[in-house]
Amino acid sequence: MAIRKITEYPAEVLGQVGKPVTEFDDALAELSADMFETMYEAEGVGLAAPQIGLNMRLFVMDCDGIKLIAANPEIVSTEGEQSGQEGCLSVGKVPAVVVRPMKARLKAQDVKGEWFERDAEGYAARAFMHETDHCNGKLFIDHLPKLRRDMVVKRFKKEKSWK
Ligand SMILES: [Zn+2]
Repeated sequence: MAIRKITEYPAEVLGQVGKPVTEFDDALAELSADMFETMYEAEGVGLAAPQIGLNMRLFVMDCDGIKLIAANPEIVSTEGEQSGQEGCLSVGKVPAVVVRPMKARLKAQDVKGEWFERDAEGYAARAFMHETDHCNGKLFIDHLPKLRRDMVVKRFKKEKSWK
């Protein structure tokens, strides 16, 4: 296993629609293990392949008791609404309030290629949607009004310049 470098905004790969995962082999299992290691090291609760520079529809998460690998993820249904703080490892974890559905059902393939569906609520549902968005080339700041989006980007760039 190895820790990968996290790709940060505004890298091009973060805005690209990921390519479907087609090979469910040892390389995918290894990549998933690296992604978990990278995510834990960065103290995140989810990490998608574009965040380590790979244009692939794949994410891992460990959030609110839900730990999984999702290849070719889709949100198949949602319900309700929640408003809460969200951040992203690719945007320096600068937080912003994002309104999203309260519940979400994820459909994806596991590391062996088996399709599964999983329901989540609250924070874990938020992670399902945030990570699936990454696979579609979308960031959480894309859900914000322009002014708030600009504020998050500005703060991220400022904090980065201190490092
Ligand atoms: Zn993210």
